[in-house]
Amino acid sequence: MDDCLFCGIVAGAVPAELVHETERTVAFRDIDPQAPTHVLVVPRDHHVNAVELAAADPATSAELVTAAAAVAAAEGHPDDYRLVLNTGPGAGQTVFHTHLHVLAGRPLTWPPG
Ligand code: AMP
Ligand code: ZN
Repeated sequence: MDDCLFCGIVAGAVPAELVHETERTVAFRDIDPQAPTHVLVVPRDHHVNAVELAAADPATSAELVTAAAAVAAAEGHPDDYRLVLNTGPGAGQTVFHTHLHVLAGRPLTWPPG
């Protein structure tokens, strides 16, 4: 998708600090980190949110989660991390290309804000 920021990162047209790649996913550091580890895992293909990705491509949906676990482990947090899928503007989604937030490295309170 031409005007999608995360498609641009996947294509290498927009700079980002990539930390992990799989056949179907790319992971890069969030530009405005909310924890010592704050990485976004995205599918290489454009889908607007997690539900659309799951319906269209369940294998990539699963790979997003396994990639997120690999990122957390590589960052030194194999057992304690938070995965977040903001879905819809009212829930804080600002980029409409599916992305799984991986947050770790500080106490993570519940409920989240
Ligand atoms: P969300 O609010 O759930 O849609 O998450 C979008 C995330 O993308 C936010 O945490 C932003 O800080 C992050 N973000 C926006 N632009 C960039 C960028 N160019 N590189 C990396 N992360 C970004
Ligand atoms: Zn996209």
